[in-house]
Amino acid sequence: MSDFEYDLFVIGAGSGGVRASRIAASHGARVAIAEEHRVGGTCVIRGCVPKKLLVYGSHFAEDLADARRFGWDTDGASFDWNVLRDNVAAEVNRLEGLYGQTLGDNNVEIFRERAIVTGPNSIKLVSGREITAANILVATGAWPSMPDIPGAGHGITSNEVFSLPALPKRAVIAGGGYIANEFAGIFNELGVEVTLITRGDRILRGYDQEIVDRLVEISRHKGIDVRFGYRFDEVEKRDDGSLLIKGGGGEDIETDLLLWAIGRTPHSNALGLQEVGVELADDGSIKVGADNRTKIPSIYAVGDVTNRVQLTPVAIREGHAFADTVFGENPRTVDYDCIPTAVFSNPPIAGVGMTEADARAKLDDVKVYKSDFRAMKNVLADRNERAIYKMVVAGPDEKVVGLHLIGPDSGEILQAAAIAVKAGLTKRDFDDTVALHPSMAEELVLLK
Ligand code: FAD
Ligand code: NDP
Repeated sequence: MSDFEYDLFVIGAGSGGVRASRIAASHGARVAIAEEHRVGGTCVIRGCVPKKLLVYGSHFAEDLADARRFGWDTDGASFDWNVLRDNVAAEVNRLEGLYGQTLGDNNVEIFRERAIVTGPNSIKLVSGREITAANILVATGAWPSMPDIPGAGHGITSNEVFSLPALPKRAVIAGGGYIANEFAGIFNELGVEVTLITRGDRILRGYDQEIVDRLVEISRHKGIDVRFGYRFDEVEKRDDGSLLIKGGGGEDIETDLLLWAIGRTPHSNALGLQEVGVELADDGSIKVGADNRTKIPSIYAVGDVTNRVQLTPVAIREGHAFADTVFGENPRTVDYDCIPTAVFSNPPIAGVGMTEADARAKLDDVKVYKSDFRAMKNVLADRNERAIYKMVVAGPDEKVVGLHLIGPDSGEILQAAAIAVKAGLTKRDFDDTVALHPSMAEELVLLK
């Protein structure tokens, strides 16, 4: 037993913090956690979970339209944003309760308030209480970035988008990343006129270009106005509540809602970290080693605040590895190679491993196998949307180094296929697997 009140104090009850505290407690540590907003963090409260539910909810628009070709009479079907929004909020409340219960069941003490670091082994709660702990874990996540232009505050971020009082008629989405493309799909399905604006010449940097090009093509076909190379100069609010976006060399845009989706900044400011000697990088992320430890030996950090890979499963793994290492006598680090990812756009895209461009730049003897096809369901629905499944292989044995998909359910399909890529299997191993027919996924074992 140490002289400290706790063996571990965690700041931030999100994906990383909750997992770390639960596992540390299961190893016998005395653990407390502070949360200034809501237990569950970004993913559960205003990220992955409510977003995915909105993706499901909005997709009914298309499903109902397609249903007619399958014999269903859908006349009279209507949509009520308030019902979807409130049901999603209720589900989030339920999950928040479960997260709190799990922490309680594991004897993790919860302080529902802001905490800051005051020393290598001390924390101060906003209510004034000082607490000591042998170890401190900073798991404070990230925060939506805002541009530094006049009137930027007239726009909203993903923090507010889940509780809109009403759907706008028109929406401008600034950014070309995950959140921008996911909400472009959601709003478009719900009948909002969407303009997606990005500063560069491409969206979804890091994804395979051919897959991204197909998403742009389909998004435009669905009526999303995708614009590249636009610079935001100023946002003006008009008397009627609408917004006037000025920028792009004179090209002004009128809208009812502006959603900033231009990245997330590590949530490390005003936490007292630099004062106690913890190093921050230029982007505000906390610098840690592979063992998640900062320069101060008793202070660790995991998740988005370290800006390694801003994804929930990664934050969870980092939190788990930290707890096993420090409290479970099982030192381990996270393997960042071949992390499967998906953008829940409409249609979704998913990828694992190297893109074709990456592979050609880094490896010899690269070859690409591809299927460009229309899903059976889309054929009968007379929906002219084609999927692409792309396999990147390298070397004489044709090891699969990347798999990139766009098409219905591509996230679901890729999660399973990613096991094969992670395991280092070859094109031959895929070919040796008998197709499961009829399915979209069978294309993966039939690639030419
Ligand atoms: P968080 O989950 O952000 O938790 C940090 C917590 O710390 C927060 O609850 C915050 O309130 C609290 N906090 C901060 N400072 C303090 C303080 N001083 N005192 C007390 N508490 C504090 N990832 C995916 O893998 N898949 C997805 O589909 C996906 N969709 C997303 C959709 C959206 C709209 C957004 C915004 C993100 C999405 N993400 C997704 C990313 C994912 O949510 C994050 O990567 C993940 O939540 C990071 O976990 P974390 O523990 O690092 O931080
Ligand atoms: P992303 O990093 O995905 O995309 C940011 C976008 O904003 C890019 O298009 C970028 O352009 C652009 N941008 C960056 N800075 C500026 C600026 N100053 N002005 C104008 N445009 C700018 O960020 P998101 O906000 O969409 O999401 C944050 C993170 O959350 C993601 O990176 C991801 O890790 C996670 N997330 C994951 C999801 C999932 O797994 N499905 C879903 C949602 C979020 P450029 O390419 O030119 O830099």
